Amino acid sequence: MVKTRFAPSPTGKLHVGNVRTALFAYLYAKHTGGKFVLRIEDTDLDRSHSDYIDKLMEDMKWLSLEWDEGPLVGGPEKSYLQSERLDIYKEYAEKLIEDGRAYYCYCTPEEIEAGKKEMEAQGKGPIYNGKCRNLTSAQKRQYEAEGRKPVVRFIAYEEDFSFKDIVKGEVNFPSGMVGDFVILRANGMPVYNYSVVIDDALMGITHVIRADEHLSNTVRQLMIYKALKFKVPEFAHLALVLGPDRQKLSKRHGATSIDEFRKAGYLPEALINYLALLGWSSPDGRELLSKEELISLFDLDRISPSPAIFDIDKLNWVSKHYIINSDSERIYKLALPYIVETGLVATPIDEKKEKFLKAVVEIAKGYCSHLSEIKEHIDYFITDDFEITKEARDVLEKEESKIVLKHFKEALLKEERVVVDSVFTEIAKKIISETNIKGKNFFMPIRAAITGRIHGPEIYYILPVIGKEVAIRRIEKILNS
Ligand code: GLU
Repeated sequence: MVKTRFAPSPTGKLHVGNVRTALFAYLYAKHTGGKFVLRIEDTDLDRSHSDYIDKLMEDMKWLSLEWDEGPLVGGPEKSYLQSERLDIYKEYAEKLIEDGRAYYCYCTPEEIEAGKKEMEAQGKGPIYNGKCRNLTSAQKRQYEAEGRKPVVRFIAYEEDFSFKDIVKGEVNFPSGMVGDFVILRANGMPVYNYSVVIDDALMGITHVIRADEHLSNTVRQLMIYKALKFKVPEFAHLALVLGPDRQKLSKRHGATSIDEFRKAGYLPEALINYLALLGWSSPDGRELLSKEELISLFDLDRISPSPAIFDIDKLNWVSKHYIINSDSERIYKLALPYIVETGLVATPIDEKKEKFLKAVVEIAKGYCSHLSEIKEHIDYFITDDFEITKEARDVLEKEESKIVLKHFKEALLKEERVVVDSVFTEIAKKIISETNIKGKNFFMPIRAAITGRIHGPEIYYILPVIGKEVAIRRIEKILNS
């Protein structure tokens, strides 16, 4: 059975890059009927914070990336937080020492530096010189008497290593690139390259899917697998996610953390859909895919080895699709806080107001790529006191516009029916034939007078919601100004 994992270090918020990694691991596990594990790599005590653990789990749940094993849900392991597995790392480190594959090292940072220089002078890499490899018991006692706390160092194999990465293809590490490396720090905390192997092996991970910044780490990990006779998993290293300027995606590029997208009112399923396209494509070229479709189509062989470009316009395009096609009631509920934020509607909202706001959201949502944008599309539904844009003002100043508005006002005054699509078309036809003002010269002034802008929903969607009286009032205001 396939088992994948997402192993974040809780040193910051979940962002586009690492959640894309989580998603690929999740999709592959689900595609194969396997399991997806969440493991928290919180051994860097200075940089890890439990708040980030809570936050990342909350974000993953919001995205519905449920994990089969991990914090909160449990599983066969006693804990899925590395900080609660220290005894396990210690036990394996002791085994490595017993097997002669690791040793206590008492070197100070200065001694390590000097040793590296010495190695470089001999034409070898700047690697640890193995000074503590063969300490006698007396030397060890001496160091301990000096108060030195040892680290545990792994004895690097002096041989070539290679593996076939699912995304990158054949990867070779020539011998001599790596010196004896630390696996346990003096404070008992394991080093990433070591604990990751212990955990992936004990948790039965079959496919390690992760960012390609870890590609060069894999050689140290392969050495640990070999020393402990653990089965080596398959690896799939994912190319970076870059900004449109082809630089590593960062704050400079705008929103990157999942909670920013959530606060901006993106739907989780839209993000999942878009993130899946960052470095993967569906066999039939489709780009709008539900999570179920992604699960059924996703496979590792379609992951691109080149970096993916995060394109906010494309995300917005995907997102718009989900907003338009989602259940109206759900969109209303999600949009309401943004509407309330504008201060245009008093709370609590009674039944009548709710009905009205639902109608507003139903129209305005078509103009939102994320729901916080609804704030820009609702004022003219609710109040006459909206800003008239410069373009709208230019339209309204034209003599022709005044003629259209006069006719339209008269027509509204006489009209007894609700001005839906067909009624509006009837009125429009009549005025166009009377005035010979047509096309945008006819439609623009009406829109500009009623909404204060020249773009937006069809006027016959707006009229039935705001009512004829409001429209007449606004037109009169323009005509009298
Ligand atoms: N904790 C590592 C990180 O967040 C995990 C790397 C891995 O997946 O092996 O980068």
